[in-house]
Amino acid sequence: MNESNNWLDTSLTIYSGMPHWPDNPPVSIEPSQCLAHRDVCNVSKLTIGTHTGTHVDGINHFIKGGMGVERMPLEATIGKARVIEIKDPEQIKVAEIEPYDIQAGERILFKTQNSTHALKVE
Ligand SMILES: [Zn+2]
Repeated sequence: MNESNNWLDTSLTIYSGMPHWPDNPPVSIEPSQCLAHRDVCNVSKLTIGTHTGTHVDGINHFIKGGMGVERMPLEATIGKARVIEIKDPEQIKVAEIEPYDIQAGERILFKTQNSTHALKVE
């Protein structure tokens, strides 16, 4: 997580072997081209599920015919947001978020246990 000029980047670093959704592909980052091997540049091959690390799910993730994340306006992802810490270790349930009175169009970031588990410890 990086902070500069009052902006807070909440995205997690993606790395090989990081936690991923159980039925999603494991995260793998491998060199594909390498300057050290006399290739013209460094290029990596990524294998990753779309639910890895910090991500946004489009409406079509759960609703057939819903808008895909590629059509979501970028402005929707930038600006003030409210962070709601989820205590349930397995799911975000309506009963837990109902007291927060979430309003239509409000930006919400859910801080789950996965937020901690996904951090790379070096
Ligand atoms: Zn997702």
